[in-house]
Amino acid sequence: MEKNIWYRRIPKVDVLLESKEIARLIEECSYDVVLEAVRKELEALRTFIGECQSEKEANERVEALKERIVRRAKRASRPNMRPVINATGTILHTNLGRAPIGEQHIRHIGKIALGYSNLEYNLEEGKRGERYAHFEELLCKITGAEAAMAVNNNAAAVLLVLNTMGKGGEVVVSRGELVEIGGKFRVPDVMEQSGATLVEVGTTNKTHLADYEEAVTEETKALLKVHTSNYRIVGFTESVSVMELAKIAKEKELPLIEDIGSGVLVDLSKYGLSYEPTVQESIKAGADIVCFSGDKLLGGPQAGIIVGRKKYIDMMKKNQLTRALRIDKFTASALEILLMEYLSEERALKNIPALRMITESFGDVEKRAKKLRNMLVRRNIKADVRLDKCESQVGGGSLPLERLDSMAVCMRPKNITTAQLEERMRHLPVPIIPRTVNDEIVLDMRTIAKEGMDEIVRELSGTGILEKNWEPGEYV
Ligand SMILES: *Cc1c(COP(=O)(O)O)cnc(C)c1O
Repeated sequence: MEKNIWYRRIPKVDVLLESKEIARLIEECSYDVVLEAVRKELEALRTFIGECQSEKEANERVEALKERIVRRAKRASRPNMRPVINATGTILHTNLGRAPIGEQHIRHIGKIALGYSNLEYNLEEGKRGERYAHFEELLCKITGAEAAMAVNNNAAAVLLVLNTMGKGGEVVVSRGELVEIGGKFRVPDVMEQSGATLVEVGTTNKTHLADYEEAVTEETKALLKVHTSNYRIVGFTESVSVMELAKIAKEKELPLIEDIGSGVLVDLSKYGLSYEPTVQESIKAGADIVCFSGDKLLGGPQAGIIVGRKKYIDMMKKNQLTRALRIDKFTASALEILLMEYLSEERALKNIPALRMITESFGDVEKRAKKLRNMLVRRNIKADVRLDKCESQVGGGSLPLERLDSMAVCMRPKNITTAQLEERMRHLPVPIIPRTVNDEIVLDMRTIAKEGMDEIVRELSGTGILEKNWEPGEYV
C-alpha cells in the first residue's frame, strides 16, 4: 500500500480556501467558522486514511471533503437547539419540550424579553414589588386558593413545600403514592433532600384512613398526598380521598399537602377524556397546599406552581431555597398570559395549544390527514402513502391510560429504505420526528397544526421522496 500517495491527494488549506465552493461558504458563514471546519475535516480525513485499507474508499473520502466542510460549517453557524415537527402524536412530549406556547402568547413574552419590565417593580406604589404578583391573583381567582407562587418546576415545588413545612419532622404518605416520575424524580429522594422524614403508610395497593391516623405522632408535621400521574394501580385497590384526609388533618391540626402533578384546571371529562382531579377541587376538598407543573396539562411554561393557604405560601416566599429555585421573567410573563386564558374555559381550549390538541375532534384531525396525503400525492411522492387510524397520547406523565383517536399519514418510501427516510427526516433544517411502525413512517396528525401543513411538505421535499430532488445543501 502506497499510503504516501493517498495522503498527497489531500488538498492544502490555502487551496481549499480559495476554491469557489469554500469562498461562497465564507460569505455565508464566516472566515473563522469555515477555517475551523476545514482544519477539523482535514484532520478527520488524515485519521481516516491512516486507518483505511482500500484506495477506493480513501479516494471517495477525499472527494467528499468539500461537502463535509460545507456541512460542518453550516452546522456550526446555526443554533443546535431548534424547532422540530412533532409527528409522534404525543402532545406533552418531554423530550420535545412538553407544552408548546401559543403564538400570541409568545409575542407578549417576546416584548417583555426585549427590554425592561416591571418584573419586581410595583408601578402603583413606585417601589419594589414581587415577581409572583403578576399571576398570584389570577391563580387565586381560578383555583379558589388564598395565595400562590411559582418556582422552576414541580420537582422544585415539592422540594420547597416539604422543606418549608416538613423539615426536621415527619411527613406521612401512602406507599401506593411513592412515585417515580420521568427523569428520576422520586418522591422519597426529594423528601430526603428536603430534610423531612418520610413515614410510609398502607400497602402498595391499599391505604385506609386508619393507617394515616395511626401514623401521626408528636413528630408529624404534615400529611402528603401525591397524585399517581404516570401509572394506575387497578383492581383490588383503595386510597384515601383528599376530602377524607383533610378531615384527619384538621382533627390533628396538621396541614394537608397535595402534589397533584399535572395541574389541570379544566375538567377534561366533559370532553370525553378520563377524569383527572382539578386543582380547584383539591383546594375545595380541603388541601392546604397544592403544587403542580406548569408545562403539563396546564399547557404553559416549565414551572412548579404552589397554591394554598397564605400563611404557608408566605413561609415559602421567605425560605432561602426560593431564591435558588426562582422563576425568571420569561416564565413569570408566560404564566400570567397563560392564566388569563383560564378566566374563560372556552378561550383556554381555543388559545392554549396543548388543550386544543387534546380536545380536538377526530373528524378535524382526519381532515388534516386527508389534506396532507393529497398534498404529497400531488407532488408525486416516491412512496406508498395511506391513511390509517391511530392513537395519540397525552404524554408528560399525564393521563397514562388515555388514548386519543387520531389519524395518521403512513409512508413507505420506494427509492430508499424506511430507516434512511427516518434518518433524513431527523437531519432536515426543521427536523420531523415521526413514529416508525412495522417499517412504515407514521405521521400522527394530532400534533401537526393546520399552520404546519405547508412546512411539513416543504421539509419533506428535502428528503428526496418528493418530485423535487434532495440536495446535500438542504440536508445538514
Ligand atoms: C410530573 C410530576 C412531577 C414533576 O414535575 P416537573 O414539573 O416535571 O418537575 C412531580 N410530581 C408529580 C405527581 C408529577 O406528575
